[in-house]
Amino acid sequence: MEYVLAVDIGGTKLAAAPVDSDGGVGEVRTRATPARKGAPSVITAVIALCREVVATMPDDDLRAVGVGAAGVVDVPRGRVVSSTDTLSGWAGTPLRDLLADGLHAALGIRVPLHVQNDADAHLLGEAWTGVAAGVADVLLVAIGTGVGASVLIGGAVHRGAHHVAGEFGHIPIAGAQGLYCPCGREGHLEALASGTGLHRRYQQLGGDPSVADARGVVARSNGGDAMARAALQDAGAALGRGIAASLTMLDPDLVVLTGGFVSVGGSWLDAVRNTVEAQVITPLAHTPLLVGSLGGHAPLVGAAASAWQLTEETT
Ligand SMILES: [Zn+2]
Repeated sequence: MEYVLAVDIGGTKLAAAPVDSDGGVGEVRTRATPARKGAPSVITAVIALCREVVATMPDDDLRAVGVGAAGVVDVPRGRVVSSTDTLSGWAGTPLRDLLADGLHAALGIRVPLHVQNDADAHLLGEAWTGVAAGVADVLLVAIGTGVGASVLIGGAVHRGAHHVAGEFGHIPIAGAQGLYCPCGREGHLEALASGTGLHRRYQQLGGDPSVADARGVVARSNGGDAMARAALQDAGAALGRGIAASLTMLDPDLVVLTGGFVSVGGSWLDAVRNTVEAQVITPLAHTPLLVGSLGGHAPLVGAAASAWQLTEETT
């Protein structure tokens, strides 16, 4: 059976899987991203992962490769334009060419290769087989270690004049003044609403210094720690302010929330929804805010969607 190879290059994890022409995802293989070792090490790790996936599949059925990658990506040129410091040395990487050469050297294959930002891949996945299937105008917000977003307008991802559209984490936002953002500036939404921001906020409020990360803050909140609850409330409200601003600009049919953070649910999700409802004008107040249905598979499904589209364009 023909398939495309879908790859997700995240700041902490790499994933790859075969995806069929109906969006069905085969066995997903993962490994840690060598995020501190520079782009060549990341490429080498991706090629090794691709080799593992291809080895499990019948020969000659691979039609294309689709990649969703962290960072701002120039899709026509297949290059990483800029990146936060989550991946060292990532900005400027000619990702598509390096992967094409690496796959050829390691596996002897030459197939069409599509590279895009991971949040855009995430949105295309949810818009193909997930919660946004068939919906024309969608805002997707992915909340994890960082905060990303993607915008679907009329069924197509809107990438903008500088490939930056949807870089939602870097919206200047009230409450984030003086807080460092991984992009190198201060005062951005990601500094408050991300997992990293949540942990910092908890410590600022006087939380237990032995709590090491956002996961720990969520666990403390569930255990009744008032400062952890307040930090989660602040992170949710910051996200809600960003979504309210974006809804006002875009007026989408639907907002999809996804990423590692959405499993927190509860009071955090209430804070997001309540803030959005309180801050947008009345016609926007009931825009649905839904949690994505594909979870961690979404970027793979979306990367595959673009890869399948590429096979149609090149045949
Ligand atoms: Zn920023």
